[in-house]
Amino acid sequence: MIQSQKRGVTGYKGKLYYAFVIPFAFVCAYFLGVGAAEAVGARMTGAGRTGGTNVSTRAEPGHNAAETAGVGSLGELVGLQREAVDAGASGTDNTTPGVHIRTSANEPRDMLSHAFVNGLSDTTAFSVPMKVNTLANTRYLELINRDYPVKGEPDTGAIVAAWPTVPTSTGDLALHQAALDAVEQLFAAAREDLSNTLYVGSGYRDYDKQKQIYQAASDKAYAQKPGHSEHQTGLAADIFVVGMHQSKMARSAEGRWLAENAWKYGLILRYSDDKTKQTNIAGEPWHFRYVGQVHAWYCYEYNLCLEEYIACLQDSDGYTVTLDGKAYTVLYQWPNDGKIDVPENMAYDVSGDNTGGYIITAWE
Ligand SMILES: [Zn+2]
Repeated sequence: MIQSQKRGVTGYKGKLYYAFVIPFAFVCAYFLGVGAAEAVGARMTGAGRTGGTNVSTRAEPGHNAAETAGVGSLGELVGLQREAVDAGASGTDNTTPGVHIRTSANEPRDMLSHAFVNGLSDTTAFSVPMKVNTLANTRYLELINRDYPVKGEPDTGAIVAAWPTVPTSTGDLALHQAALDAVEQLFAAAREDLSNTLYVGSGYRDYDKQKQIYQAASDKAYAQKPGHSEHQTGLAADIFVVGMHQSKMARSAEGRWLAENAWKYGLILRYSDDKTKQTNIAGEPWHFRYVGQVHAWYCYEYNLCLEEYIACLQDSDGYTVTLDGKAYTVLYQWPNDGKIDVPENMAYDVSGDNTGGYIITAWE
């Protein structure tokens, strides 16, 4: 769809149909058939960049993503050009030098320093050794990029039809269930706050589809090689605005709103303009990746891309944060003898990060 849209605005009339008419038709059909009232999702209030955010409903975790070929220059991504945020602790160093993802626990630590909200000093609560291959691995936090390819296919049954739950560009568009839940809630909030013109233009792609897209891409700055696209997980959704070329998104009200609000539903703006050195992908204000709310909040709050976030987790003792009165603890672990330590008295999720370690998200 991205290619079609590009051609659409560059005067290839036949493709204009695909660019705007078909998406609009699906959007219209969506509202006629489903009705806006159907898409009631989590509503968040009091969202802010200082923690203590109120979240009435936690988005279900999900996994899904893939990258695509795209359009021309996007300009500044308003909304993510935030200054480094004061972490609220003394001695905070907000610099984020070149990202280095360690590949084993034995590799020397990078000096990347980033103060987590509340550094964990006591991790004794994580005291139950569990074999990683016996744990339910959500895979929501897997790093997929040029250096870390997708491993395997998404779990059977995890990829579901996105239509008619949300407006889509085509009827066969699919997403990981967790990403779909998040997008549904995000769109419901957008309808109340802003507009009802958002739709998903691209979701899950298998290897062959990604290969096709990559080979057809005229501008590889936006394209991921097959095997290296988040879209192959189903956790990524390209979100567009009906009637708007994506090159206009970054400066549009819709683009800014998405950049500011996606985290509330567990989605991160994966390729922002100011992180191209870390992601090796040009800015894409339309590409959102599901990682889960706590992690999306952190990335948003401290303006970290996923590469930086995982590097920070690897180099820290984790963090705690309270969202809507619910206290979360996030901790990174390398397997020891095939085992990681999970909490004894807390609920938790585990996700591999696709570099060898595991991220545990625990809550009371
Ligand atoms: Zn994408």
